[in-house]
Amino acid sequence: MPRRPAPVCPSPTCSDQPARTIRHSILSTRQRSQRRYRCHGCGRTFAANAGTAYHRLRHPPKLFDQVVSLAVEGSSRAATARALGLSPSTVRRWLARAAVHAQAFNDAKLREVSAVELQSDELKVRTEGRQAPLWTYTAVEVWSRLWLTSLVGRRTLRNTLLHFREARWRCRVEAGRTLVTTDAFKYNERVIARVFGPTCVHAQVEKRYRKGRVVRAERRLVLGQDWMLDEALGRSEDSKSINTSYVERLNLTIRRSLACLQRKTTAMCRSEASLREQLELLRCYYNFIRPHSSLKFGRKKRTPAQQAGLVAGPLSWRRILSARILGTPRRSPLATMRDGGRACAIQGHRIRGRGSNS
Ligand SMILES: [Zn+2]
Repeated sequence: MPRRPAPVCPSPTCSDQPARTIRHSILSTRQRSQRRYRCHGCGRTFAANAGTAYHRLRHPPKLFDQVVSLAVEGSSRAATARALGLSPSTVRRWLARAAVHAQAFNDAKLREVSAVELQSDELKVRTEGRQAPLWTYTAVEVWSRLWLTSLVGRRTLRNTLLHFREARWRCRVEAGRTLVTTDAFKYNERVIARVFGPTCVHAQVEKRYRKGRVVRAERRLVLGQDWMLDEALGRSEDSKSINTSYVERLNLTIRRSLACLQRKTTAMCRSEASLREQLELLRCYYNFIRPHSSLKFGRKKRTPAQQAGLVAGPLSWRRILSARILGTPRRSPLATMRDGGRACAIQGHRIRGRGSNS
């Protein structure tokens, strides 16, 4: 049987120019024994699962996967801890760790998306003990149902700009104009004209509410000409008129999947950081793991990432969390804002259109 190749050194100094690594020893602990490797570049030794979410985990990986699965199915941390017999702080720590991983996975994989039609919306989140509500910006690529970006923060010009820059950055430059549909939020028009320019047709749906119900929806073209809109709608296989129903459907999925976002819930969102974590996990789950009911082809249902051609089939939490995160530069606008442009790539998952394995 051919021996498996030794993994790349996870040290940030070595991962840009990987050095040769060799088998070093086997470390036995009370839980299990694990192979260690030695890097010729920096001389350090490392475990086979260094860089994965399971590194230095003292419980079975299966239990870790269960905690993550429950979190994206609407179970609160306290409920997960009770159901699995863990302490709430362990659950919190594991979810934070899994979220870092999910974020790196989303960042590395959601690239070069073919965008015929984009829909964007903001979701209001009430948080514990603060007056101003938080907002979650989401953008979906309608044809593949791919959840492109999520940004948590106040509804400001800066955040709106960051959100659309991030969405634009994840899309491929195409011959036809992208149809971008949003609500009538005051900054949308300005920002989309600036970020997408003549490569898009921008339409808005303005809803009028009375006693919490929609009484009227006005649809209007904001950027582009009528013939451009007809052309863009002609290319879209899903929309026959201006609408934001696909992103609203995604928002409903988000609300129902996270305990703190459900309506009339007692599980309030404690902090912006924890909301961001949960959204990253959910985005990973929604895009890569859960088959989408509207992407049904014969008997098989596809995941949004599969439909977008980013992966060959549905993935599992084990596959995502055991991918190794290695440090390489990244230029996503949101990532640059978040951590100064330095962050992660995923080893063992080929990213389309780059031809490298980083
Ligand atoms: Zn090294």
